[in-house]
Amino acid sequence: MQVVQKPDTDVCATVAYAMRHSGATLQQIGDALNLTKERIRQILIEHFGSSRHPLLSTEQLRSRLNLSRPRIMELYRAKVITPEKRWVTGDICHLLWSPEAVKKVNNYLDTGRFCKRCGCPLPRGRRVFCSNECYQEDHKYRYKSDIAKKKHLESVRRYRQRQKVAVHAAAVK
Ligand SMILES: [Zn+2]
Repeated sequence: MQVVQKPDTDVCATVAYAMRHSGATLQQIGDALNLTKERIRQILIEHFGSSRHPLLSTEQLRSRLNLSRPRIMELYRAKVITPEKRWVTGDICHLLWSPEAVKKVNNYLDTGRFCKRCGCPLPRGRRVFCSNECYQEDHKYRYKSDIAKKKHLESVRRYRQRQKVAVHAAAVK
């Protein structure tokens, strides 16, 4: 079915979605946007597939997993999770996630597949380092003096320790 959308429908949808998330009823949203309750329901269904919004916003996903937003984006870039819906308003791209994403991330965190050097999640097809940059960085010390090697290894060790603590802290919460 082809629906001709008014130019402001996206804006309405954004507001309606945000209000719905904060617990507003269809009637309350309708009153705020000067639309009928039924129209709000339609807009929500058109844009999000349901007026009950089973999908999670990035913020909700983040708080359920107790991870930082950049961490979620890392997992997204590494294709550990893929958004169900992408929805663009102006310059902002909103991502919506299925509740499955929570399970996927938890499973992923359990397997501990992270870059040996930087601690980012490993993209598919990579086993030790997340990128060639990390591989090269990690192998740099081969060509350094003994003192520099020692220093480098020490800093890598500290870095990994910090990553481990951070991941552990994120997983335990
Ligand atoms: Zn890396």
